[in-house]
Amino acid sequence: MADATASTSNNVVIVGAGLAGLSLALGLTSGTIKNSAGKDNDRWRVHLVEKQFNFSRTGATFGLQPNGQKALKELAPGIVEELNQVGLFIPQSGGTMLGWWNVRDALLARVQQEASKPDGTAKISLHTGYLLQDVLDSEDGVNVTFQKHKKQADSNSIEQAGDSNLLTLQASILIGADGVNSSVRDHLGLPKAKWTNVVMWRSRLYIPPNKDDPKSTPAADILRPYLDIPIVPLGVRLRGCTNYAFFNFHQKTPGTMALVANYKLDQEQADKSMQQFVPGTSVQSFLEAQADDEKEVQEIRAMAELCDHDGLHHPIKQKVVVLPEEDGKGWGGKGRITLLGDAAHALRPASGQGGSMAFEDAVVLCRVLQKKFGSSKQDQAPTKTEIEQALQEYENTRLPRVRKLWVDQWERAEATYKNITVKPWDEEFSNWVFQGV
Ligand SMILES: Cc1cc2nc3c(=O)[nH]c(=O)nc-3n(C[C@H](O)[C@H](O)[C@H](O)COP(=O)(O)OP(=O)(O)OC[C@H]3O[C@@H](n4cnc5c(N)ncnc54)[C@H](O)[C@@H]3O)c2cc1C
Repeated sequence: MADATASTSNNVVIVGAGLAGLSLALGLTSGTIKNSAGKDNDRWRVHLVEKQFNFSRTGATFGLQPNGQKALKELAPGIVEELNQVGLFIPQSGGTMLGWWNVRDALLARVQQEASKPDGTAKISLHTGYLLQDVLDSEDGVNVTFQKHKKQADSNSIEQAGDSNLLTLQASILIGADGVNSSVRDHLGLPKAKWTNVVMWRSRLYIPPNKDDPKSTPAADILRPYLDIPIVPLGVRLRGCTNYAFFNFHQKTPGTMALVANYKLDQEQADKSMQQFVPGTSVQSFLEAQADDEKEVQEIRAMAELCDHDGLHHPIKQKVVVLPEEDGKGWGGKGRITLLGDAAHALRPASGQGGSMAFEDAVVLCRVLQKKFGSSKQDQAPTKTEIEQALQEYENTRLPRVRKLWVDQWERAEATYKNITVKPWDEEFSNWVFQGV
């Protein structure tokens, strides 16, 4: 059995190595957040536990907005500059548009670099292929057990879990950063994520930029002209109750574009769940129904042909995590367990704020922990009560801001699907969002 019970008073176990988990791991170990004595925090040892074995490069386009950038600068110095080299500037907000995987990969590279340091010196351990199995809150700490994902354990094992498939960790803090279907939420007895009746397809397509490329096809020829247009060549179209977006990243990654298509089901369709969707063909016919003329139909067929089929073949249910009403439960954490990112508050992606909110969560949590347990008090282990109070402070600080944005994003998304014109945020609201925390 792999056992990592040493220095429990300094162990933070994070479930989920998405944007929230990765950025928190970096913020706790190498961010620029100083304690009141102006020192770096050198207290925490982070165990980042991820259910996937491999980090796949799928996902949608991602707007890294100014508030997300501000938080990331504190969590992982230099990373925003790195990402700005890859992405495209968004004039309306001052943010950067890139692939979701660009952001994840940049964070992951830093985590892997820290995790690969010699034994005993690394502040982060990355455990992949594990699922949360059990959580036991004791006086000494939160005992967390994970089980190696059986399906792939033999084929692609990154971490050898000794003679057993279990990984046991003792934590002073357990963080659920495991996304919209969070197992930590389940453990806390919180309501599951709610389906919005929207399905979505996400995919990427590659168009050989050169016509003479042997890999070029007639479909690539149809779409190649869009490689000369910097961004959103087919625009974001709102017709009836649907929208789709087609983004172009060619300036920095030649030939790669990203497609996101959203479709809101009526209640009858939703009740039949997704069985009606014929993989692959349904997104194409849905998009064709959006087209105004034969040229667009041709382009959509070309998109369907060139798309990375893994994405195109899987309609994804768009879900949200509803923050509890003012019933005293607030954020949903309990004791020395708390939630971060989508696990706490997955919002509708109406204005692309979910990732930035996750980074804000991480930076606020780091600041609170640093303020309370910074390295000037390194020799004193935080007590159970002190940790509980710190997590409460983090949740109370985040709740009003996240709730306000959650409601805004819900209303905007619903209006879009009802074909009501949605105006951009007014100046006051956008300043409030983009100034960040
Ligand atoms: C179409 C679309 C467009 C978007 N556009 C934007 C945008 O432009 N800007 C923006 O800021 N946000 C955007 N978002 C939102 C943003 O992508 C999410 O809010 C963000 O990725 C959430 O990060 P996370 O780490 O909380 O969750 P996730 O990215 O879901 O990561 C969770 C991780 O936990 C792992 N995990 C799950 N269960 C377990 C388990 N039981 N044990 C261990 N590990 C587990 C998962 O494998 C995953 O790696 C968009 C979302 C969508 C759907």
